[in-house]
Amino acid sequence: MNVTQISPELIQKTIDFHGHSCPGLAIGIRVAEVALGEVGRSSDEEVVAVVENDNCAVDAIQFLLSCTYGKGNLIHLDYGKLAFTFYRRSDGKAIRVIGKPEIFGHQDDESISLRKKKMVRGLTGEEKERLNQAAVARIKQIMEADLDELFEITPAQGPVPQKAQILESLICEACGERTMESRTRRFLGQILCIPCFEVREKNF
Ligand SMILES: [Zn+2]
Ligand SMILES: [Zn+2]
Repeated sequence: MNVTQISPELIQKTIDFHGHSCPGLAIGIRVAEVALGEVGRSSDEEVVAVVENDNCAVDAIQFLLSCTYGKGNLIHLDYGKLAFTFYRRSDGKAIRVIGKPEIFGHQDDESISLRKKKMVRGLTGEEKERLNQAAVARIKQIMEADLDELFEITPAQGPVPQKAQILESLICEACGERTMESRTRRFLGQILCIPCFEVREKNF
């Protein structure tokens, strides 16, 4: 496996981009290390990332690989899996990186119950500190582990996902707002945007 080290300065910039340091972001940083070594950074759109979750890890992928939602070379599949696939357009090389269940399959019971309590009743200062320490320990564990301890890395199959397409826009006949043609709906002969369509349909 080719691996590209990410400097402490770049890790700090990634944390700044995300807004906080957390175990999820640490996972994303390590996934990015694999991707940088195997397919490189996408200075424009030459690397496409397909992410199968929408957690904190995705921000590290966006920042470190320049695979971004806006450019269309970050594709989210709502599968709820800790899995990431990277495609390089120039030669079609593709890899899939999956978190190993023995590392990511379970969290410690105390953190789970504290996080539940946090949502329901809030935490005492001492409990907050314990949860925080658990997160710090988890981040350290993820950042210091060998990559092949953390991930299963395999060649990926399938075609490179298509580039973002620029489509015509139409004017919604109810609200008058410009809407990408592929997102318009037709209802009783009118061209509508999705929210206007949903209102008409509900009141029909
Ligand atoms: Zn986070
Ligand atoms: Zn509309």
